[in-house]
Amino acid sequence: MSRIQNAIVYLVDLPIVRPHQLSMHTITTQTVVFIKLTDEEGESGWGEAATIGGASYEEMTPEAIKINLEQYFVPHLLRQDPSSYGKLMETLHTRIKGNRFAKGAVESALLDLYGKQVGLPVYQLLGGKRQNTLQTAWTLASGDTSKDIEEAQEFLYQKRHNIFKLKIGSGNPMENVYHVLDIKKALGDNVRITVDVNQAWDEQIANECLPFLQDGGVAMVEQPLPDWNEEGMKRLTQKFSLSIMADESARSIQDIFRIAKNHSADSISLKVPKHGGLMETKKAAAIAESAGLQLYGGTMIDTTLGTAAAAHIYATMPTFAFDTELFGPLLYQEQISFNTIKYENFQFRIPEGPGLGIEIDENKIIHYSRKIHL
Ligand SMILES: [Mg+2]
Repeated sequence: MSRIQNAIVYLVDLPIVRPHQLSMHTITTQTVVFIKLTDEEGESGWGEAATIGGASYEEMTPEAIKINLEQYFVPHLLRQDPSSYGKLMETLHTRIKGNRFAKGAVESALLDLYGKQVGLPVYQLLGGKRQNTLQTAWTLASGDTSKDIEEAQEFLYQKRHNIFKLKIGSGNPMENVYHVLDIKKALGDNVRITVDVNQAWDEQIANECLPFLQDGGVAMVEQPLPDWNEEGMKRLTQKFSLSIMADESARSIQDIFRIAKNHSADSISLKVPKHGGLMETKKAAAIAESAGLQLYGGTMIDTTLGTAAAAHIYATMPTFAFDTELFGPLLYQEQISFNTIKYENFQFRIPEGPGLGIEIDENKIIHYSRKIHL
């Protein structure tokens, strides 16, 4: 098997189509780290790590991910055989603490490269596809009620999405609740509405707001309390019938085991970078499933590449109770790949072809690469 001969890491700032407002940050440009591994035959595998708002979502910043990949990961990868991706990831987990986003990017690149070498899609390397398509939510995050309703109605008409998530962590909590209820009322019963607080409430605010969201037909609330407040999350889970979802508090598989053991959430948002790769994501899902927790296929606002990586692993699992939110490519002004992911009939197809099935436009990545040296 052809060994890894070269590795390049890019730090890329990509413009998005409209401001994306979260509790801790408003995204106008999404920063993504890409790693390209090339073998002796000239075949390449790609992986990405997208984070949200520098250090505001995750301790690892994109700048740190780039440097850590170059300094600490690449030496373990050069001259190695990508077919031993499991063993290589074990070495990285042993030698490098934390750094889950960087590990996720490396594992995607290894699987993409090995899949291309053997002519198989990545899902085939990880248990085989159980689903051909995935349903995906859209996030309404303009901050304006009538704009959000208009946007949702347009996507319903286009048959692009019928699940909508609202980011309600910034601003006045009760005003945000009314904003959500107005949208739910305008869109009717054929859509699923979920909300994401991104850790912004305390338990008292949650107790004030959740009854209104529950009575208004909101299906799920993501991370209402800070990631450290597991006891509070447990109390909300016991008290309310709408699904309380852990996202920021459910990073490592050990976090998910603890949440499952204590039943301190009803549901878990999975994300490949957050768990540290596709194989860790599958383990995370298995732990949650074993405790009867519901699953959601989350996104870090990934490009076509990261979205494909998530889609390949999600496709090997049972259907998720809350489907997915793999809308990342739709938020970018331009794609970093020649082929794209097509959203139609409220679904998108798992990318086919060897590896992750994404043909990277490297010139586009170079064009948007940050020009300053760190
Ligand atoms: Mg979330």
